[in-house]
Amino acid sequence: MAEDFDVVIIGAGPGGYVAAIRAAQLGLKTACVEKRLELGGTCLNVGCIPSKALLQSSELYWKLRHEGKSHGLEISDVGLNFKQMMGRKQKVVAGFNEGIAGLFKKNKVTRYAGTAQLTSPNIVTVQSGPSKVELNARHIILATGSEPIGLPFLPFDERRILSSTGALALENIPKKMLVVGAGIIGVELGSVYSRLGSEVIFVEFLDRICPTLDISLSKELQQCLTKQGMQFFLSSKVASAEISDKQITLNVQMPDQSTQAMSSDVVLVSIGRRPITSGLGLENIGIAPNPKGFIPINGQFRTSIPHIFAIGDIVDGPMLAHKASEEGAAVAEIIAGHHPLVDYAAIPSVVYTHPEVAAVGMTEEEAKSYGFNPISGTFPFKANSRARCTGEEEGFVKIVADPVTDRILGVHIIGAHASELIAEAGLAISQKAKVLDIANLPHAHPTLSEAIKEAALAVHKRAIHK
Ligand SMILES: Cc1cc2nc3c(=O)[nH]c(=O)nc-3n(C[C@H](O)[C@H](O)[C@H](O)COP(=O)(O)OP(=O)(O)OC[C@H]3O[C@@H](n4cnc5c(N)ncnc54)[C@H](O)[C@@H]3O)c2cc1C
Repeated sequence: MAEDFDVVIIGAGPGGYVAAIRAAQLGLKTACVEKRLELGGTCLNVGCIPSKALLQSSELYWKLRHEGKSHGLEISDVGLNFKQMMGRKQKVVAGFNEGIAGLFKKNKVTRYAGTAQLTSPNIVTVQSGPSKVELNARHIILATGSEPIGLPFLPFDERRILSSTGALALENIPKKMLVVGAGIIGVELGSVYSRLGSEVIFVEFLDRICPTLDISLSKELQQCLTKQGMQFFLSSKVASAEISDKQITLNVQMPDQSTQAMSSDVVLVSIGRRPITSGLGLENIGIAPNPKGFIPINGQFRTSIPHIFAIGDIVDGPMLAHKASEEGAAVAEIIAGHHPLVDYAAIPSVVYTHPEVAAVGMTEEEAKSYGFNPISGTFPFKANSRARCTGEEEGFVKIVADPVTDRILGVHIIGAHASELIAEAGLAISQKAKVLDIANLPHAHPTLSEAIKEAALAVHKRAIHK
């Protein structure tokens, strides 16, 4: 007989597992179905966490070799044990796998291991090998996430033709890596292998890297990564490929329409991700994804069937773990009868390269497209005392503002620890703060955050240190 639940969640990524914990906290009888062996979804198992663990290890290696000397550290040789580095990454992941399982137990979320399918608007069938169980759900939350998009002529084998998943699990450091797509995931994983000694070459269809960034930061990031040894071919398209036992050759259409052959032992394809909706049984209940594959929802995350909700990477919006989690918590509260709000304008996005890039709110181009006549102020980290002490002087802060109201429209940071600095800006955007609110706020000295204050002062042409 089917067991009854107030809420059944399909997918235990940062959207689904947060929804499950919040729903259980609110007293709802909650089940979460996950087809992976481990909880945590893409983010924990093959996304945010393993990539950041490897970025940290590779950055440390790179810094010891390239920056130690200027600090007076005489390190003659820094050995590299890649197996150990990968083992550390896996240990970090496994710790959180256990952590989420523990949180499920603590909050009394019932976990089902298996693949879920909707067989009717209230029945979720969970298949695990030969066994099948049916769950009777008053509400269902779809949180099945996304998967890497491949190229038809470069099928992933995760050994030589890699998606991000394969790039996070290599057994050896490749001599050379061609990266198709210089978006956020591409430049992060390309950075890891470049720091570890691979020759890394990006082929990007657009005329800039990380195209969602404010163009000035996109240009600065490209310059910094180029200085580290990575190469970029922009406005260039991989048209076809030849795959032999020895190597993979990409035929690349260059901006002048000529074709250049580029060969490598390993190719990483990072051209984007698409929502996972197939196999979910949506056709059984009449929910149709939109032409881009996303599940349409209303302002309360409800699909065309009101008691079935969808969140995270399978709905429109930035594919980010914290966006999925905010939606997860909000949808649980809606089911419990509350009226939460997700502040989409204040969702930050981060590129964890070196230097890091972090942004929240509108770019200057976006502000113009919304009808503002924006002004901006910038402040370089090379004029920031803490950055000079740490030797991390690359980058700058840029604040975009509305000159009529003085409201901050966007904050864009390229520099060390930008991922941590951006939280102040997120609060400013969500509280509709004015430039003067940041300019007048005392910031500790010497800190990197003083660059944000100085950028705010620069909007009003009164920066002190530039
Ligand atoms: C390499 C990489 C690095 C990233 N780095 C960052 C970062 O630094 N910061 C950030 O914010 N975002 C990052 N992301 C994006 C982030 O991982 C996703 O936005 C986030 O995981 C989406 O969460 P979700 O809950 O919607 O889906 P997912 O995390 O994809 O989880 C969905 C889960 O549903 C399960 N599932 C699917 N179908 C079924 C089914 N039928 N039955 C049962 N279970 C099912 C899947 O197995 C999966 O575990 C990164 C992604 C990648 C690939």
